[in-house]
Amino acid sequence: MLRSALLAASRSPQVRTVVEKFPPTQAIVKRFVAGETLQQGIDATAELVASGRRVTLDHLGEDTADAAQAAGTAEAYEHLLAALAETGLAANAEVSVKLSAVGQFLPVDGEKIALENARRICEAAAAAGTTVTLDMEDHTTTDSTLEIARELRTDFPWLGVVLQAYLRRTEADCRDLAHAGSRVRLCKGAYKEPESVAFQGKEQVDLAYVRALKVLMGGEGYPMIASHDPRMVRIAGQLAEWNKRDTDSFEYQMLYGIRPEEQLRLAEEGNTMRVYLPYGQEWYGYFMRRLAERPANLTFFLRAMATRG
Ligand SMILES: Cc1cc2nc3c(=O)[nH]c(=O)nc-3n(C[C@H](O)[C@H](O)[C@H](O)COP(=O)(O)OP(=O)(O)OC[C@H]3O[C@@H](n4cnc5c(N)ncnc54)[C@H](O)[C@@H]3O)c2cc1C
Repeated sequence: MLRSALLAASRSPQVRTVVEKFPPTQAIVKRFVAGETLQQGIDATAELVASGRRVTLDHLGEDTADAAQAAGTAEAYEHLLAALAETGLAANAEVSVKLSAVGQFLPVDGEKIALENARRICEAAAAAGTTVTLDMEDHTTTDSTLEIARELRTDFPWLGVVLQAYLRRTEADCRDLAHAGSRVRLCKGAYKEPESVAFQGKEQVDLAYVRALKVLMGGEGYPMIASHDPRMVRIAGQLAEWNKRDTDSFEYQMLYGIRPEEQLRLAEEGNTMRVYLPYGQEWYGYFMRRLAERPANLTFFLRAMATRG
């Protein structure tokens, strides 16, 4: 119930205005978002890389409503990728892109515009010597996102995609994408989805995650295990052993600000550990999904609200 309400609020302009104007919000947002500027994103990346972790940067934004804004987002990624190259961080830092931020939902030619903007970002990544992963949004976008990824992969075979274990289709998608050279990030899924397309309870989603993970770890691609769940991390390690995978043939990924000690432990054990690092002004949707994932985050937020009277 609470999760559904928060996820609905993540797309409400009215709630957005209230949350953004609420003074303690900023302090809580800081835990999950590196800052609003490119420089803050670069500084946080440098710090994580110095600690032995890798990074995937997200220039925050989603559900872009006009073509100029979509092109602006592609340009922001070009600046980001140039900055990663200039600072020598590109060997350890890639970018994550939401297709809805570069035009996928635009009513006229949305998919075409998103494909062109994503292509610009891939070209900039290739010039910088790094890679791109396409984030996955709600289930209405899955086919379109996988199709755009398929087109881009003919020129940029290193392009990664995300699959969400809560979707009933995902085990089959994993089978399609478990081939050599394929980079797939497996997460549980962060959106509010109907039962017709998605498993609902935690236990069902966890079981689906393990089934999908088995396919990816048993395949020939490069699995990216995106979860903070200690059980999923443990099972991934076991599957790596059973499938005789070297530590450079898969990686763990976690979100900025979540379980940092575990991130360091995995990196210190010789694993590749990549942190998903968001920065930028459009933090609202991202922040609300993080609140929805964990009641303790919400309690913290509400307590701050109450103490402000
Ligand atoms: C690198 C990365 C990229 C992602 N990309 C996408 C994407 O493209 N599309 C998409 O739909 N989803 C994405 N997600 C989000 C993902 O789908 C889940 O919503 C999120 O990771 C929580 O699931 P979990 O696997 O950590 O397990 P859960 O069962 O939700 O959590 C397990 C434990 O992790 C900790 N934890 C989890 N979430 C939080 C939190 N918000 N705050 C504090 N502690 C927490 C808690 O200790 C919790 O008990 C991504 C996640 C990661 C790590």
